[in-house]
Amino acid sequence: MGAMRSDHLFLSSSASPLTRRSTLLAALAALALPASRVAAATSSPGVWPKALQVPGGVARLSLGPAAVRPVAYAGDVPLLVLGDAAEWTAIVGIPLSAEPGEASIAVETPGGRRTLPYTISPKRYSEQRLKVEPRTVDLSPEDQARYERERTHQALVMATLTEPPHTQVLRMRAPTPGRRSSSFGLRRVFNGQPRNPHSGMDIAAATGTAVVSPLPARVIDTGDYFFNGNTVWLDHGGGLLSLMCHLSATDVKPGDMLKTGERLGEVGATGRVTGPHLHWGVMLNRTMVDPALFLDA
Ligand SMILES: [Zn+2]
Repeated sequence: MGAMRSDHLFLSSSASPLTRRSTLLAALAALALPASRVAAATSSPGVWPKALQVPGGVARLSLGPAAVRPVAYAGDVPLLVLGDAAEWTAIVGIPLSAEPGEASIAVETPGGRRTLPYTISPKRYSEQRLKVEPRTVDLSPEDQARYERERTHQALVMATLTEPPHTQVLRMRAPTPGRRSSSFGLRRVFNGQPRNPHSGMDIAAATGTAVVSPLPARVIDTGDYFFNGNTVWLDHGGGLLSLMCHLSATDVKPGDMLKTGERLGEVGATGRVTGPHLHWGVMLNRTMVDPALFLDA
């Protein structure tokens, strides 16, 4: 059963676009395009984000060739579309709350609107029990009101949509050195009470360790939030965002442009935490996905 699942996942996410690409390359060769153009298209430098069609994962859906970048949607949320005229790919963030089974995106081209189906495989995330300050689980009326204001503000930040990144390779640099927990997706129970699943990667590091940008970015929000503590939101383009939480210090302000590896603040223990660490979130189409899919290992 497990083996069949992974085979199916492999076939649906990788093999068919590759087959399509080979056919396309044969067609391009037949058209006698310059050799360098074809050679560039056949080199396979690795793929980031990695495709993993499960709740909290990423689907890479082939949209085929088109003269202009197609526009694609999950529901009414625009998707990141990468590529060039020879082959476009929709990079789809799959919500942790998604039901396994058939899903689809909509693709708009000058010819009209079509539906592109894909399959979400099940993934069972385990449970994590945490002990935190009681006031961060049973919120006072003041804290509840503050949290709701912050949630409204964050929703605006998360809707940021700018031009797609210039690069096709969205391989990210780990934002801080340290042990990376595989806690993405864990169903969390705080002081015995179930809460939202863990939607990022925790990296253990001492307070004061530098936090850097994982890709070129524009800073779109900074603030001190009830659960997330000192926070920096980064826009990498095309609806791909990073979230850095619990910082002890922030060095940047909205509008700042950062290169990959450029410092934005320091690891800390602000907000709802059990100790100093970086919480790193990665968002695609307003959906938190597993940051590990953007890293080398
Ligand atoms: Zn976390």
